[in-house]
Amino acid sequence: MQFTRLRLSGFKSFVDPTELRIDPGLTGIVGPNGCGKSNVVEALRWVMGENSAKSMRGSGMDDVIFAGTSARPPRNLADVTLTVANEARTAPAAFNDADTLEVSRRIERAAGSAYRINGRDVRAQDVRLLFADAATGAHSPALVSQGRIGVLITAKPAARRAILEEAAGVSGLHTRRKEAEKR
Ligand code: ATP
Ligand code: MG
Repeated sequence: MQFTRLRLSGFKSFVDPTELRIDPGLTGIVGPNGCGKSNVVEALRWVMGENSAKSMRGSGMDDVIFAGTSARPPRNLADVTLTVANEARTAPAAFNDADTLEVSRRIERAAGSAYRINGRDVRAQDVRLLFADAATGAHSPALVSQGRIGVLITAKPAARRAILEEAAGVSGLHTRRKEAEKR
């Protein structure tokens, strides 16, 4: 799964609309402390369905919305859009007719999140399923936050098993089985 573009607006320190192109190969983000490097990675995690405010370094999900500075008033809305190449047609059937997928999540203060794929309203679960098998996803071991290595080393066996299952690509199957059992 190839990510090609990330757009942020009102998300954490990215108050103005910002577009980052993601070319094939390795992308590095460099900058001084506090410039927003980790916020970019958190935007990726968030748009893929992250539910834990704590792993976004906040106490509630509204904390991802630009909180204002001495020079700028706070925002009431944050929006992140991730563009994913789908030429290989690996997306679930419902979205698999397009060459690119635009996955977006937007949050309004005190009103929660809404997700869209190519302009259609979808459930958070649809977004999670889209990324579940792709070694991506909000909980993918491919996303290693600052300080996570230490947590991994001291993890309990059950938590470490979950990490291994994700790495082995079977956690997507668990999610689908739970979905099927509900029907
Ligand atoms: P380091 O090199 O220290 O890891 P970094 O480049 O990863 O730094 P981030 O942690 O991404 O930096 O960004 C931190 C900045 O984002 C801080 O200045 C913080 O005030 C700002 N920030 C975080 N959340 C918000 C918010 N909701 N509204 C406005 N600014 C925010
Ligand atoms: Mg950082």
